[in-house]
Amino acid sequence: MIGNININNKNYPTKLKKNVIVICLDGSQKEYFDIALEKNLMPNLKKFIMSGSFQLAHSAIPSFTNPNNISIVTGQPSSIHGICGNFFFDPDSKKEVMMNDPQYLRAPTIFEKLYKEGLKIACVTAKDKLRTLLGNGLNYEDKRAICFSAEKSNESSISNNGISNVNKWLQRGVPDVYSQELSEFVMAAGVKLLKDFEPDIMYLSTTDFIQHKYEPGHPQANKFYEMFDYYLGLLSVNKSSIVVTADHGMKSKSKDDGSPNAIYLQDILDQKFGDNSARVILPITDPYVVHHGALGSYANIYISEVSKIQLIIDTIKNIQGIDVVFNKNDACKKFYLPPDRTGDIVCMSDENMTIGSSLEKHDLSGLNEPLRSHGGLFEREVPFITNFKELRPRIGEQIYNYEAFYYAINNAGEIL
Ligand SMILES: [Zn+2]
Repeated sequence: MIGNININNKNYPTKLKKNVIVICLDGSQKEYFDIALEKNLMPNLKKFIMSGSFQLAHSAIPSFTNPNNISIVTGQPSSIHGICGNFFFDPDSKKEVMMNDPQYLRAPTIFEKLYKEGLKIACVTAKDKLRTLLGNGLNYEDKRAICFSAEKSNESSISNNGISNVNKWLQRGVPDVYSQELSEFVMAAGVKLLKDFEPDIMYLSTTDFIQHKYEPGHPQANKFYEMFDYYLGLLSVNKSSIVVTADHGMKSKSKDDGSPNAIYLQDILDQKFGDNSARVILPITDPYVVHHGALGSYANIYISEVSKIQLIIDTIKNIQGIDVVFNKNDACKKFYLPPDRTGDIVCMSDENMTIGSSLEKHDLSGLNEPLRSHGGLFEREVPFITNFKELRPRIGEQIYNYEAFYYAINNAGEIL
């Protein structure tokens, strides 16, 4: 159809009647909204819900930040785009490879495709680790694209980000990477970009520092959602088509005494099957581990002897605190994962449990509060809030956070 484009097997209009804004509020378990709404801290979101919709979507699995941000901006799960964690194990080189480089991206982003159709794109992320993936395929020379991070806002340049002197422009210094201000910077930049740059499509992605630290209803958490609501109000003035969602939920993962609740799976498997029989890879591991100590609820396990797979699966299944265990085939089919970047075995832990590798490998010294984390099935339910009536064609069908742009853009699209 004229005026439509197929991006990763879904149709999008290329002419928009209004701006589209998708906000990924990192780690926003539904209860954060419930409590803040109940306390009347989110009047603007309340207006959204009255005129639009508040549904619960599923995130992509693993319920981690990078796979879900990339799913949101490509409109598809990692079986299509390839990014299924911060790390994967390359069986050929026998190395653990970091996956935050665009060379691992297997699908175009919605931004890249619609940019080529002539639309204006703006994208702001809290942490810099996502920026190169989100901005992949954009060209900054003709002033139709801007993509930068709050973390490295002072390093932004016209050639790499489409904007320079961000801190002066926004009148805000570079925030601490572990702070609420890092997310607030993203929201404030979104409001100013909407006014100064008038993007057709804007993506704002915050960080889950607050959510890792504070439970729903905690004064610091309420303060965060109140702050967010203030900016949401400012973003709503243009009657843009807006979706607010999250990359994953967040659950308490600590024992009664406040220490982290973790299964050190590498230690267990080494003890039972001998060293080097199995290698546990935790895709949550990244350079910013202070607030979760690299403890999440999802693990890939690579096996050296194929004949032992069933035995190892049965062993993991019997560990208290393990939720589900799958062989590679079943995991990839069930959760839309790329087989060549998935372990021989995939396992996920219970609601209040995490999976570690070896105890000695985890630096937990930065955990000042009881552990809260994510990665498994218990953290895949996320809010999906729109300021328009839902467009879902088949009522009762599961909606995914990575359909945010699909619905927002189609809602804003010009009917030709
Ligand atoms: Zn996250």
